[in-house]
Amino acid sequence: MMKGFQGKMCPRCHHAQMKRWTDLSGDEKFLAERLPMSFEFSAEERKKHLFCPRCWFEDIDRTTQTV
Ligand SMILES: [Zn+2]
Repeated sequence: MMKGFQGKMCPRCHHAQMKRWTDLSGDEKFLAERLPMSFEFSAEERKKHLFCPRCWFEDIDRTTQTV
């Protein structure tokens, strides 16, 4: 479990458990691949994002990347 990841809340629907790409089930990945973000980001990039399995908000988590 990555530090700081636990308890990440969806800013849109306040679902308390956003998931990383690797945590998504097969069905969830199928849905996530159809989000509008998939046109803007490569599959590799999206593996760094967080996904809300309730409303499918996609969080571009920049906190792990130094600017
Ligand atoms: Zn949500």
